[in-house]
Amino acid sequence: MSPVRIDDNQGSCLLYRDLHGQKPETVVEAQGSYLYLDDGRKILDACAGAAVASIGHGDQRVIQAVAAQMTTLSYHHTSRLTNPAAERLGRMLVGHRPGGLSHAIFLSSGSEANESAIKLARQYYVELGEPDRVHIISRNNSYHGNSIGCVSLTGIPSRRRHFEPILMTHMSRVSPCYPYRYKHEEESDEDYAERLGAELEEEILRVGEGKVAAFFAETVGGAAAGNLTPVPGYFKAIRRVCDKYGVLLILDEIMCGMGRTGKMHAWEWEGVVPDIQTIGKGLNGGYQALSAVLIQQSVVDVLARGSGAFANGQTFQCHPAAAAAGIAVLSIFESDSVVATCAKRVEQLRQALIDQLGDHPNVGDIRGRGLFLSIEFVADRKTKATFPKDLPLAAMLDNAIFQRGVSVYSGFGKGTADGVVGDHILFSPPLNISSQEIAELVTAVKAGIEDVF
Ligand code: PLP
Repeated sequence: MSPVRIDDNQGSCLLYRDLHGQKPETVVEAQGSYLYLDDGRKILDACAGAAVASIGHGDQRVIQAVAAQMTTLSYHHTSRLTNPAAERLGRMLVGHRPGGLSHAIFLSSGSEANESAIKLARQYYVELGEPDRVHIISRNNSYHGNSIGCVSLTGIPSRRRHFEPILMTHMSRVSPCYPYRYKHEEESDEDYAERLGAELEEEILRVGEGKVAAFFAETVGGAAAGNLTPVPGYFKAIRRVCDKYGVLLILDEIMCGMGRTGKMHAWEWEGVVPDIQTIGKGLNGGYQALSAVLIQQSVVDVLARGSGAFANGQTFQCHPAAAAAGIAVLSIFESDSVVATCAKRVEQLRQALIDQLGDHPNVGDIRGRGLFLSIEFVADRKTKATFPKDLPLAAMLDNAIFQRGVSVYSGFGKGTADGVVGDHILFSPPLNISSQEIAELVTAVKAGIEDVF
């Protein structure tokens, strides 16, 4: 066979996300909070690549830890073997049993973690002797991943559109907690939370008692509608309903977990603990591909008493290099007090956004928790009217802010059967972003917004 000759001047062979647009810009290097492009531009990564780069880019401590692990053991299969890195990371995450979570499975992406959580809930009920529990309830304006199971959970019509006929049928969705648009004017937070709890109860009864296996929710909503943040008491109301009907509570903290909200787990703000939790992204800061499912002892016990195995083996699970990156990142969280220090930046970012943009006629809402904040834009602040569907406002804002040297995460506004959402931009910078970088971020965002309006 003749050697393959590669001509770098040939056109690209990659299937880009946007087949109509131009070739995406090329990033060649990243350090700290910045991305460096091949044309010499320096971009402040204000979304940490979708809440991934939790300790910033290029940290030598993580790179050295991964290199050392690769030198010692780069891969093994888990059918009969385990490895010290995955064991240690498991102990770091659940060895102290946060909220009773006692076991971890490591996978490579958030979608795989959520897919595994769906399967775990199903197998749990089969082994418990309740095989009729096949239904899962999730929420509108939610995002849970890219695989068929995860798209079936996801409440974003554009993500579902092409696949609707092949999505899982025993799934349904209820309203998210979205006070800016759906809490009635006269309603207290408590009453709103109870109303949403009652809606979940109604849906469980509609499906049929003993038919629902799990309720699936992002603790703080991420990309789907721009940081939908629960009102106080929301998850307590949800937990009460789940407990009443024996429904597992699965919290997706792929985006909002691992320190992002100012606590290690976002559920710590809510006073509830999930039966199953998924994490990813910031878990090892993107230095390797890694996600995890964290599981309550009570769930593990049922499988242990039953078949004795979770039917969910994957080739790359518990990957030693990915686990080594996780250990290094969590060690840096501790040595650099990352989560505690980020609390100061949270107030700075939130206050600066409010001070500089709070009065803007098209800024409808500034919301979120921790270093996980969004701005929702509206055509009219009084009526909360969204912009026309054919105006790609989110993309225009994203682009204008990028031209000003800052990368944000944007989402389109939509008015669909799933409810109205305004165009929004999301900030989820590295948790160790500096005060000066936050000031730079807000100045550039303000300028970008002014370029558009
Ligand atoms: N769940 C949430 C809340 C997410 O934000 C994402 C990704 O953005 C996923 C799941 C899917 O994760 P991944 O893209 O790693 O498969």
